[in-house]
Amino acid sequence: MRLMRRVLTLNLFFLALLPFVTAADKPPSKVPDKQPDKPNVILVTLDTVRADRMGFLGAKKGLTPHLDTLASQGVVFERAYSQAPITPVSHATILSGTYPQYHGIRNFGDRLPPSVPFLPEVLHNQGYRTGAFVGSIILDPKNGFASGFERGFDVYNAGFHRQKTGEKREASMQRRGEVTLGHVLEWLGQHQSGPFFLWFHLWDAHDPYNPPEPFRSRFPNAPYNAGIAYVDDTVGKLLDYLRSHGLYDNTLIVVAADHGESLGDHGELTHSIFLYDATIHVPLVFKLPGNRLAGQRVHAAASLVDLAPTVLEGLGQTPPAAMQGHSLLAQIGNPNPEERPSLSTGDHSERSFGWSSLVSLRVGNKLYVQAPSPELYNLASDPAAKSNLYAQSRAMAARFAIQLDSFVKRVSTGAPQALQDGLDERSREKLSALGYVASAKAGPVSRIDPKDRIDVANDMHDASLAIEEGKEESVIPLLLHVVAKDPQIQAAQYYLGIAYSRRGNFAQAIPPLRKAIELRPDALMAQYELAICLYETGDLNTAAAHFEILVENRPDWIDARYSMASIYARTGRPQDAAKNLLVVLESEPDHYRANLLLGRMLFLNGTFSDALPYLEKAAAVQADSSEAHAFLADDYEKLGRAADAARERAEAQRLKRPAAAEKPK
Ligand SMILES: [Zn+2]
Repeated sequence: MRLMRRVLTLNLFFLALLPFVTAADKPPSKVPDKQPDKPNVILVTLDTVRADRMGFLGAKKGLTPHLDTLASQGVVFERAYSQAPITPVSHATILSGTYPQYHGIRNFGDRLPPSVPFLPEVLHNQGYRTGAFVGSIILDPKNGFASGFERGFDVYNAGFHRQKTGEKREASMQRRGEVTLGHVLEWLGQHQSGPFFLWFHLWDAHDPYNPPEPFRSRFPNAPYNAGIAYVDDTVGKLLDYLRSHGLYDNTLIVVAADHGESLGDHGELTHSIFLYDATIHVPLVFKLPGNRLAGQRVHAAASLVDLAPTVLEGLGQTPPAAMQGHSLLAQIGNPNPEERPSLSTGDHSERSFGWSSLVSLRVGNKLYVQAPSPELYNLASDPAAKSNLYAQSRAMAARFAIQLDSFVKRVSTGAPQALQDGLDERSREKLSALGYVASAKAGPVSRIDPKDRIDVANDMHDASLAIEEGKEESVIPLLLHVVAKDPQIQAAQYYLGIAYSRRGNFAQAIPPLRKAIELRPDALMAQYELAICLYETGDLNTAAAHFEILVENRPDWIDARYSMASIYARTGRPQDAAKNLLVVLESEPDHYRANLLLGRMLFLNGTFSDALPYLEKAAAVQADSSEAHAFLADDYEKLGRAADAARERAEAQRLKRPAAAEKPK
């Protein structure tokens, strides 16, 4: 049945173009695993990059010379639309070829179910070597964010951690494109023989806008634009590398933004809530192997959900049946392309604020937004979506509403069951044992329209940035004001709790964090923050219970597992502690604290030679830790290695001294 549909959607003219991997006049190979010249695939995702900043889409600001060159050698989709204005949700769609309603990533912290089709895994199974190189903690699977995204990747290069007081964002939660690129090029240098799939994610256009020089000075009053120029320059360096290493021609390169940026459009400062073109219209370019179809432009609507099926069909493979997008190949060079409706979903307003979620449908030039106050725009005459035609075009709006509902129903069908509740049953039981009121699974749909509260969303975003910058003091009055006015806003309770926690007021942080969890039991970040506060106030057992929920639901959340293990170590459960520390070290062999704790536990247990490798590792990973060298010295002593012990003891003393010298006399 699927084959029938595929054949029907491809007219004969375009069959000749398929697939990229074989010459146009040859039928597709029957033995795809034996092809020596399988094209490489590079997916570049530009975070937070608006379509209207691209030179190849008509921008005159000169921000994107490298992308413009790439576009001239590839196929440009002029009207490409994101399925969600938020990083993990959109990337899940890009990589899975499915809608958020199916893949289940609806907000930060959601977990990608293993049964969802996934482009990296599909290519890996085809013999591709696969590497992910991401620019932000938001896409780091080990930190409770992009859980499940590592599937199918040989290498997932991330390694971020939550910002500690005084730490720079670039040293903790994100990194410059050129830093990520360094890892990309190192990996490419090792993989020039076989076909590879590389995903390169650039975060630099994301707020808070902090473009490096010389781009900052080149665009002095437009830091967002400067960030895009930097992103373009960094992609240009990757393209130069590919060209100079003979990799450019035989590589299928796809460049897309996950979403854009509102920059004040409709009152939204950044992105995540609204579904207008500022955040949903995105750049999308396919550069095919051999520069085939170079210079083609497709005006018909494309969706990011189509990206993965297009890549696979371009490689001569049949996309998995569960992928919901449609290959865009048949649209290229087609004088009568199919105008496909494009669906976008914004759940952040509901998940973080308790307001209505938004869903939109683009059909031709019309944009319909389903909301408590529905919206309908004619983007042909009103490209900025300023004039809502809903009141005077009720019949048309009603038709779109029906079309949207059936679209949502269709793409929701067969969605993996496990994600429907957000939390597993055991975790729910644990929460209710901890005194949380069980939340109704399907509460009434909120009638609060995000349009009417966008200022609150902007304020919460600013508050989160202020907290990250160590200015939590300045936002506490605002957060108190918001929760007093509306205690149901989860984000406000969450940030208030974090603000207190960062200030060291752990006891004060507990009530708002508990409220945040009550409002959203599956908000695991709130549970993480609460567990830390409970730990700090000495309530180790309750802290452990929350860490257990985190580890049960996100086995790859390394920090949570380490924290749980350290509580076990302090509460007379050394076996459980050791078991979990070993899991941490299997995932992160260089985890300093896990090495130190496990080594010290083994030492105190009298198993000195077992302790040694962990203590040596800890001292090597954090060579400036006096404690690590002191513990190592203790162990060497017990092992009868006097010279080593003396050396480590001296090092521990030496490291202790500067801190003592700094103390005022
Ligand atoms: Zn993003």
